[in-house]
Amino acid sequence: MKKVVIAIDGPAAAGKSTVSKAVAKKLGYTYIDTGAMYRAFTEYCLRKGVDCQNEGACVALIPEVEITLYPDGKVMCSGKDVTREIREPRVSGNVSYIASYKDIRLAMVDLQRKMAEKVSVVMDGRDIGTYVLPNADVKIFQIASVEERAKRRYLENQEKGIPCTYEEIVADVEKRDRIDSSRAFAPLKPAEDSIELDTSKLTIEESVQAVLDIIKEKVGI
Ligand code: C5P
Repeated sequence: MKKVVIAIDGPAAAGKSTVSKAVAKKLGYTYIDTGAMYRAFTEYCLRKGVDCQNEGACVALIPEVEITLYPDGKVMCSGKDVTREIREPRVSGNVSYIASYKDIRLAMVDLQRKMAEKVSVVMDGRDIGTYVLPNADVKIFQIASVEERAKRRYLENQEKGIPCTYEEIVADVEKRDRIDSSRAFAPLKPAEDSIELDTSKLTIEESVQAVLDIIKEKVGI
């Protein structure tokens, strides 16, 4: 079977992980949530009491950080199950600082490329099509309006029992997009050869189908 690489990028809370997970399941590919890796690193800094805006102190932790993503969505970081914690507002509020540090990105990207070396993958993030896997067979840039994204993330947090207000989510999404798009190294931006998919008016099922249609057209599966 041909090895296929699908890259899905886009702004915060655009529904990338929900869609990527479903597409990977449908095609029997491995889903890789790169955001979970930056979040796990952030949780580790907070666990160690390190200020996430202190680049030198955060970078110094790289040798101690060992991140493992499991197929069922579990995320382990240096001996601790952080699956739930990495979705908490304290992590969301700091992750874009961590993700702006070049040395940390290089360590994460190394891991991400290794994970995509031997198997077909659907990888979601911010720089997958532009930097991590520039030769991906299909590149999708998934967007949605800020209101729609905040609404979806708010409901998702409610379901998971993570306390937050709608206003906090809007502020978090806007702040992360601003930092992610303006960082110097591998910023959030569409790859030149990516296909934009606006899911503002689509249901999850319609978004998944739209991605499957794009994949079918591009790679014939
Ligand atoms: O995808 P998610 O919203 O969980 O990602 C959390 C944060 O991790 C993003 O806001 C961004 O700062 C960072 N990130 C990144 N590059 C990726 C994936 C995530 O910079 N490939």
